Amino acid sequence: MLASYAVRVDSSLGRRYPEPPHPYRDDFQRDRDRIIHARAFRRLENKTQVFTHRISDHFRTRLTHTIEVAQISRTIAGALHLNESLVETLALVHDIGHPPFGHAGERALDLAMHESGESFDHNLHALRIVESFEQRYASHPGLNLTFEVREGIIKHSHDYAPEAYPQLAEYLLDQRPPIEAQLIDHTDEIAYNTADLDDGYEAHLLTLDQIRRDVAIFDRYFRQVEREFSAVREKLKFNEALKLMLNHLVTDLIENTSRRLQSSGVQTVEDIRHYPERLAAFSPTTNGERAQAKEFLNRNLYHSESLRPQKADGEKIVTDLFQYWMSNPYDLPTSYQRQLESETRARVVCDYLAGMTDNYIIDLHKKIVGNGVRSGA
Ligand code: MG
Repeated sequence: MLASYAVRVDSSLGRRYPEPPHPYRDDFQRDRDRIIHARAFRRLENKTQVFTHRISDHFRTRLTHTIEVAQISRTIAGALHLNESLVETLALVHDIGHPPFGHAGERALDLAMHESGESFDHNLHALRIVESFEQRYASHPGLNLTFEVREGIIKHSHDYAPEAYPQLAEYLLDQRPPIEAQLIDHTDEIAYNTADLDDGYEAHLLTLDQIRRDVAIFDRYFRQVEREFSAVREKLKFNEALKLMLNHLVTDLIENTSRRLQSSGVQTVEDIRHYPERLAAFSPTTNGERAQAKEFLNRNLYHSESLRPQKADGEKIVTDLFQYWMSNPYDLPTSYQRQLESETRARVVCDYLAGMTDNYIIDLHKKIVGNGVRSGA
């Protein structure tokens, strides 16, 4: 059933700490299950995607976004005869390193780290989570995931220059990741470009006219829906058009990636690894439409005036608490104080903050900064 260039679980480069096989789950299925049962995965429920939960319960959280990425990824992997379990695992883990407050939190954390000459990167943080912060097993630290899953965590969205990241040398930075990992960046975008139009419209931050004027792919399907269902109320037409847009993006990604795989002549995972470019891609036309939708969301939603107070609050909370623990490291929880022996103070503070949910960090900020300074431990 698998394509010749799909990753085969029996050819996996394996786990850091060898484990006996499971009688009825293969290693990628076990990795998927380990991620679903991880604390960092549960915390995604209370992490902002675009809207904080304080605005409405209807909108995507980072957890429901993750589940949507997994659904889209499985569909595409099945159609391309790729390793569905590996793709699903990579989708479920792809946002596990995100800090509270979405990109605002990420930016604030990165800026705070820059003052100490360091930086924050959510893919690198995700690797630290699965390698050491998740403490669940007696026999080894972290989740002891297979090489291919750890590699996908690092390489799914972009390349890391080997000379800039010597600590990641084991992940073959000079090679492309398998096609299963290459897909994730695109399925992530399909999921959020469509979901954020939906949530933005539902939140009355985007209007139908505005979307139709500036997002050609949506408008094309909306016209089709209007011809078919002229009497139906606007929201249902909106839903239909959005569904057709999502289907178009998925179909194009399947068909164009399949074409590229055929014409490249790749036969094996090794061929994909050594091919000079990534082979998972939208067609040029659809890629243009995808970029237009993303640019529209950037301009009208992510950077909108309406979301500015929410983002400013998030940035302030992260920055205040970062500064607090930089000045008061002995107020950190004991487990983080132990880490101070092997890591810089900034990295330990960053790790602690990045793991927090929106709810937790808001409460902590009230306690420590809002109502006079007390121990955060
Ligand atoms: Mg994502």
